[in-house]
Amino acid sequence: MEIKDYYKILGVPETASTDDIKRAFRKLAKKYHPDINKNPGAGDKFKEINEAYQILSNSEKRKKYDDYKKYGGSPFGQGGQSGGFNFQDIFGNSQSGGVDDLTDIFSSFFSTKSKKRDSYENLAIHLQINLGFEESIKGIEKRIRYKRSTTCPICGGTGASRKETCPSCRGSGHINRGSGFFAINQICPTCKGTGYIIKEKCSYCNGTGKMMKEEEKTIRIPSGAREGDKITLDNYGNSNGRVTGPLILYISVMPSTVYERDENDLIRILDINLSDALLGSEKDIDHFGKKIGVKIPVGTNNGNKLKLKGLGVKRGRYQGDLYLTINLKLPKKLNKKQKLKLKDFLETL
Ligand SMILES: [Zn+2]
Ligand SMILES: [Zn+2]
Repeated sequence: MEIKDYYKILGVPETASTDDIKRAFRKLAKKYHPDINKNPGAGDKFKEINEAYQILSNSEKRKKYDDYKKYGGSPFGQGGQSGGFNFQDIFGNSQSGGVDDLTDIFSSFFSTKSKKRDSYENLAIHLQINLGFEESIKGIEKRIRYKRSTTCPICGGTGASRKETCPSCRGSGHINRGSGFFAINQICPTCKGTGYIIKEKCSYCNGTGKMMKEEEKTIRIPSGAREGDKITLDNYGNSNGRVTGPLILYISVMPSTVYERDENDLIRILDINLSDALLGSEKDIDHFGKKIGVKIPVGTNNGNKLKLKGLGVKRGRYQGDLYLTINLKLPKKLNKKQKLKLKDFLETL
């Protein structure tokens, strides 16, 4: 039996502290609580989140669950892998820190980067990229179009095609109120601190100093992208003339009707008949357009799992496997003759 991944449900790493888990739960609960979220399915999602929280927030239950996940039942429970992509081609030279490992880029949804300044965060543009299941497995280039605000190239953000030095502050942007000991230095109310007065508005930006620029970019999504992955592209967000925010892309993946994904492993069902099970056989399956030959060993049972090494998801330096869950299809009906023959045969066993 497969074990539910409570960490994945809450979007936290297996090393998460109790506080991290509480935070993640609160955030998700706010999003999916049936009182707030009226979408069908939100109730079920909330139940799942709550279940995960009940287990992981209790240290004793959590330990049991971890042990069970590690040693019991499912061969898929390793988890915990992340990252490992080389993403430099997207970042070009704009990345100051030289980050070439995707642990940083495909970082958790819930991590907050406190080192970023507020203005930087406020200037961020958030976009969602929708991927088909196969696209997420194989990787793909996506063309995206979006609008971002930049400074007007004609007036350079001043909003003026003709300006004069502010007479109140003589261009400093500040004035002194009061006198002597009680003088207060404040922002000039005439020019609001810019130091100039607009005599004629820039016609290009209508005096705002800003303009919306349409951008078109090709984003290379590496193979193995997952729901909730986040790609941050520095310097592609909105600009206020001094600071340019990031463009943040959130990956959303359509579920597959054939495959289930567990970390980097893929799982699908393989139907076999009684003859395949008893005598063994070879079957071809279509695996993302590639024909794969599968050997069914003699005596394969319903529910058995066949492992095809290296045919799972490639995510950075990690390579998962493909598991085929055997679904034995028995004949629904036998006629008299068949029954007699089968009886004869079974008596020989
Ligand atoms: Zn302008
Ligand atoms: Zn002034």
